[in-house]
Amino acid sequence: MSLPLVIDYEHGISAIDAQFHRPKRAAIHLIAEKGVAALVDTGTSFSIPGVAAALEQKSIPAEAVAYVILTHIHLDHAGGASECMRLFPNAKLVVHPRGASHMANPARLVAGAVGVYGEAEFKRVYGEIYPIDAGRIIEAPDESRIDLNGRSLLFLDTPGHARHHNCIYDERSQSFFTGDTFGVSYREFDVDGLEFVIPTTSPVQFDPAAAHASIDRIMGYQPRYAYLTHYSQIGHLARHAQSLHDLLDAHVEIAQRAKNEEDRQTVIASALRELFLQRLEKHGCRLPLDATDELLRSDIRLNAQGLIHWLDQPAERFKQL
Ligand SMILES: [Zn+2]
Repeated sequence: MSLPLVIDYEHGISAIDAQFHRPKRAAIHLIAEKGVAALVDTGTSFSIPGVAAALEQKSIPAEAVAYVILTHIHLDHAGGASECMRLFPNAKLVVHPRGASHMANPARLVAGAVGVYGEAEFKRVYGEIYPIDAGRIIEAPDESRIDLNGRSLLFLDTPGHARHHNCIYDERSQSFFTGDTFGVSYREFDVDGLEFVIPTTSPVQFDPAAAHASIDRIMGYQPRYAYLTHYSQIGHLARHAQSLHDLLDAHVEIAQRAKNEEDRQTVIASALRELFLQRLEKHGCRLPLDATDELLRSDIRLNAQGLIHWLDQPAERFKQL
């Protein structure tokens, strides 16, 4: 197994590339504390040989992985969980209470994804997903903590992108592992060290009010950095929080404007593309248009799908879920 891209930060934090679709699309974060390790998110089952190789390179034995933490159970984050449990014999899986049963019995999760992608494409992108022994699963409700060899990790329930989403505050680095709650930020869009961040409103649980509240809750801790699954460390968080709030409002406005259009997917996707291109120009991004489109295509498609799903939720039912 060749070594995937690995970026090392302070405080024993590293990003290991999940090799999901393209390099620097999805990261698996490693937190190493005096010889004991935790992983935050797993990529897919195809990402895990690369993780094992990266750990070996760092002289961290498989037995030293104490926790595999999932920010949420979307399959680009959780698809590699069962393979992790196989390779890391002492690891416990730490997951939001709403996600735990799906990890013990992934049939519904897999069926949902197969419904979207088709059997062959699902197998190609995600591989095999096996049930995980319930005895190895730790549910992490709001404000619970785990102890990583003396290092305290605090779990916050942060809905908005998904209702089974935790963000993890690491007191040592005063930073958050934010999964998808603090948006996505591809390093290719960095200009003079300043990042470009967009929200992710993918199906099927996007909830704008909750998304705003979760961003504010994260910022309440005045974190130094956020480690995004897509893609790793960003600073300038106050500035990005403001822009996420603003872009979330723009997403909702675009969706509502397209409510009665015949082809909402196309109308919303092209409005989102315009929005992002405008913001990228302001940001000073000089990437050629085709490269920009390539980087944003799948997020635009998913954001549009999630907005349509949100539009179609009867208000009353949505409240009860
Ligand atoms: Zn997600």
